[in-house]
Amino acid sequence: MTSSPATAGGRNGQRIVIVGAGAVGADTAYTLFLRERATEIVLIDIDDQRARGEALDIQHGRALAGASRVRAGDYSDCAGADIVIITAGAAQKPGETRDALLERNAVIMQSIVDSIMVYLNDSAILLIATNPVDTLAQIAWLRSQRPAARVIGSGTVLDSARLRWLLSDDLKVDARHIHAHVIGEHGDSEVAVWSHANVAGAPIELSAGRRRQLAEATRDGAYEVIQAKGHTSYAIAVSLDRICAAILNDEHAVLAVSTRLDGAYGLSGVYASVPCVVGRHGVERIVELPLDTAEHEAFMHSAELLQQRIAPFA
Ligand code: NAD
Repeated sequence: MTSSPATAGGRNGQRIVIVGAGAVGADTAYTLFLRERATEIVLIDIDDQRARGEALDIQHGRALAGASRVRAGDYSDCAGADIVIITAGAAQKPGETRDALLERNAVIMQSIVDSIMVYLNDSAILLIATNPVDTLAQIAWLRSQRPAARVIGSGTVLDSARLRWLLSDDLKVDARHIHAHVIGEHGDSEVAVWSHANVAGAPIELSAGRRRQLAEATRDGAYEVIQAKGHTSYAIAVSLDRICAAILNDEHAVLAVSTRLDGAYGLSGVYASVPCVVGRHGVERIVELPLDTAEHEAFMHSAELLQQRIAPFA
């Protein structure tokens, strides 16, 4: 029998490169592999042994699981990539402030983007997950000089999923059938948009106190996991896979990714997470939700924090 090149889920020829083979990068590669999201998944890390080990470990299951080829590579692999996901970064040191961490990760992000841009196709999408994700996505966009539509942060896709999961318990409705968005910063100032949360168009009837509890549990979800196991990785991996699916399948899916606001919500020149229509060309358009007064104020506060954070780099 003659051998033929692998076709992964009918997506022959598609390549996703992941820069950063730590917990998030490796679990993202594994998720993409199980879902057969691309023909080839390439892991790059400054620690090339780590990238090689993670790729091999996943690849050993190929006969039993999926057709996607997973391997370690280098920046020249970005030449054929449809999507480059960046999860690389320094972890917060004990006692280190967020601003100090941002400074370190900004330097790392700029050097990675420089290495990627030598090879990247015009049509490829840069997808950023490293934290603080909204600001680092904006730094990647500034450095890459690509259209903002093609430089996306994973934003509050994960936070929105956490909120929908929490709501599914209260409402006894499948989380996939609950519509609810978290917007603003992926972080402490994020905003749950209750005025538009619904099931089949019907508003979600919960007391103000319960809404506050669920919004806080959503916001603090990452802290809870980090305290228990040291890092978060599975749910962000599924979130990144979801965004990749929207791009590769040209789904025009509505996802709360981080994007550059250019007039939407009365804001300009800042990356923040809002519901966006996502397809093959990245962010196709922003969905502008008519927020109630409290949500609008909270969103403006969150955007102001993001403006302050990006100011030294803009
Ligand atoms: P990790 O420490 O396990 O992995 C980071 C990896 O980056 C390491 O393997 C390291 O060698 C690599 N790296 C560092 N500098 C590099 C460089 N210059 N070039 C190539 N590789 C480099 O960390 P993690 O748990 O995988 O988290 C990664 C990032 O993802 C963190 O910033 C974390 O906060 C973020 N994160 C984001 C979300 C989200 O919702 N956006 C969720 C979870 C984690």
